[in-house]
Amino acid sequence: MNQFTIAQAKSYEEASSIVKTGGFSLPILKAGGMDVVDHLKEGIWEPDALVDVLKAEGGAAAPIQEHRDTTGKATIRLSALNTLAEISTSTLLDGRCPVLAQAAGSAATPQVRNVATAAGNLLQRPRCWYYRSKDFDCLKKGGDRCYAVKGINNYHAIFGDGPCHIVHPSNLAPALMITGGTIHLTGGNRDSLAIADLFHMPERGIRDEHNLLAGEVVTSITLNAAPNSGFYAVKEKQSFDWPLVMAAVSLELDGDRIKSAQVCAGAVAPMPWMLPSVAAALRGVSINDEDSLKKACARATDGAAPMSNNSYKLKLLPVAIRRAVLKAAGKEVG
Ligand SMILES: Cc1cc2nc3c(=O)[nH]c(=O)nc-3n(C[C@H](O)[C@H](O)[C@H](O)COP(=O)(O)OP(=O)(O)OC[C@H]3O[C@@H](n4cnc5c(N)ncnc54)[C@H](O)[C@@H]3O)c2cc1C
Repeated sequence: MNQFTIAQAKSYEEASSIVKTGGFSLPILKAGGMDVVDHLKEGIWEPDALVDVLKAEGGAAAPIQEHRDTTGKATIRLSALNTLAEISTSTLLDGRCPVLAQAAGSAATPQVRNVATAAGNLLQRPRCWYYRSKDFDCLKKGGDRCYAVKGINNYHAIFGDGPCHIVHPSNLAPALMITGGTIHLTGGNRDSLAIADLFHMPERGIRDEHNLLAGEVVTSITLNAAPNSGFYAVKEKQSFDWPLVMAAVSLELDGDRIKSAQVCAGAVAPMPWMLPSVAAALRGVSINDEDSLKKACARATDGAAPMSNNSYKLKLLPVAIRRAVLKAAGKEVG
């Protein structure tokens, strides 16, 4: 590991200013450090400064709160520094936006959740083992090929058509996609960015997955309340693992009938993958009509193009979505 400076920023503005004008050639923002430190240990990043934002809010993240505007519309605000543990145990989120609490609670391990922050979770880099190994000079690191194409691609994308076949690893991202998530920023020319505009596909920039500019720092995240929402992830093991597929669903219900739905899948494409065809097929379906639910959720694989070792995801994805729909409707799921 190379030598580097650690700069403790007392505010997000100071963090941004150190990144932009601190005189470092490769300064990297660090929150909980789970993913940043992995990159250092893996030898993928060799920064000359880590700019630590953990003290940016005076040592403790602002509490998760709900605000109502003059029209009565409810918005929930998280701090960029709220940990996954705080999000998963928030009684406010459990009642007003269970999909986010469930997504956070399903990630990683209790130890990781105690440290990992909301912003860091959204901006963590992919788990692709070719990207994570310094022995493979893949497209993301300036090389000329995606090694997953002819290599071991069990955990790679089934949507998106390359040329880089990573999947986006964040549990929080699909949940924020279906709840109108917005990130709030400092340090650049814009104050906020919709989550839907935060991520990009490889053809829009292969070296990274998000649209933040150098020096832009996430300060908070807002989302709409979604009381009928649910998250379901299928994993090889229930702890210490990223999902094979995940689904986030929000419903508007009229009795037992689905009036409208928002559906987003994770771990299947280089960015969180909205599934409007499933949402359309769910419209009008009764939550108790198992056959129609299965039929609607089967639309999840429309347009999928699995690789040599990951067609199993075609079977898992509709199941994950159906279970997320049931959770969103308040049903018990095994
Ligand atoms: C064993 C294990 C299992 C895991 N399983 C899961 C899982 O199932 N699901 C899941 O979603 N994740 C999982 N993770 C990943 C973990 O949740 C993330 O690594 C963590 O959330 C990153 O948060 P952090 O605060 O540590 O970020 P850091 O590592 O500090 O930063 C991550 C990235 O975000 C950037 N960043 C951080 N804060 C800001 C900010 N305020 N503004 C701008 N940029 C910022 C950093 O520069 C860096 O690029 C797992 C991790 C481990 C170790």
